[in-house]
Amino acid sequence: MNALNKDQPYVFEPAPVASVPVRGGGLFPVRRIYCVGRNYAAHALEMGGDPTREPPFFFQKNPNNVLTQNKDFPYPSGSNNVHHEIELVVALGKGGVNIPLDKALNCVFGYAVGIDMTRRDLQDQAKKTGRPWEAGKAFECSAPISEIVPSSEVGHPSEGEISLKVNGQIRQTSDLDKLIWKVPEMISYLSNLFELQPGDLIMSGTPEGVGAVVRGDLMEGFIAGVGSIKTRVV
Ligand code: MN
Repeated sequence: MNALNKDQPYVFEPAPVASVPVRGGGLFPVRRIYCVGRNYAAHALEMGGDPTREPPFFFQKNPNNVLTQNKDFPYPSGSNNVHHEIELVVALGKGGVNIPLDKALNCVFGYAVGIDMTRRDLQDQAKKTGRPWEAGKAFECSAPISEIVPSSEVGHPSEGEISLKVNGQIRQTSDLDKLIWKVPEMISYLSNLFELQPGDLIMSGTPEGVGAVVRGDLMEGFIAGVGSIKTRVV
């Protein structure tokens, strides 16, 4: 049973490739999920930060944290304060290193609506103690995401509504033109730190109005020109 052979070199069956459906058909295979911190001034302020263009910072979620097809979001263990963060997601179809600003949009395959679900209590503890953010950010189903719409269909949205409702009430509303670091800047900056590749997702940061959800809540996110997402907390 453990014998290696050329048909099955792995010692057990590998996990399936995490993927996100593409509008019009096909699956986008997810390689990495990068997330941008504090990319809207009003959210930076509500989190006690600096709303100016201090250099962007990044953290990651795991590829298999994606939650697709409007499935239910299971309330995670270990937290009593789980927050929604509505975000524009950039899906890369090409990568590279040291990508110049004027070439960055060539890397984009498409866009999606995502929610950066956050165990805020664990993230706050991590901030206070100088520890990593994974427990706060990179847990199971922590990245609900809509279908990806190809940029060949919608171009590169740089303005328009981004919003999130909980149980029909608006919690977050802003405009993509308020992003501090724009999509080409995020890609170019990230590519100076990491080798970007096809399949990488970038969650571009959330506007103000983040808040807690409880079991039973219905989250509905919308980004003009991109699409919508809904997921119920269970
Ligand atoms: Mn976020």
